[in-house]
Amino acid sequence: MKLRIKVDPDLCIGAASCVTVSPETFQLNDENKAVVLDHSQEPNGRTYERWIEVNDDEKENIFLAAQSCPTLAIFIFDEEGKQLFPEL
Ligand code: SF4
Repeated sequence: MKLRIKVDPDLCIGAASCVTVSPETFQLNDENKAVVLDHSQEPNGRTYERWIEVNDDEKENIFLAAQSCPTLAIFIFDEEGKQLFPEL
């Protein structure tokens, strides 16, 4: 399945818990903000928002990363554009 992952750089405080939980998906950039990595594509581009193809395990891991963020700076959307996390 495909998910759209977005980090709000204004909310991100560089706490890096998302990077600890899901280093395949999140990395800090030079401004200490989390960027979203592409699981399938090398080399990884750096962007605050990206569609990524995930399996069930990867999806769960990304949700755990988003839940670990102290400022809820990570947003997850499904293919229809519905926001899955944080729940509305
Ligand atoms: S856990 Fe949240 S605040 Fe910390 S780096 Fe990730 S997105 Fe930013």
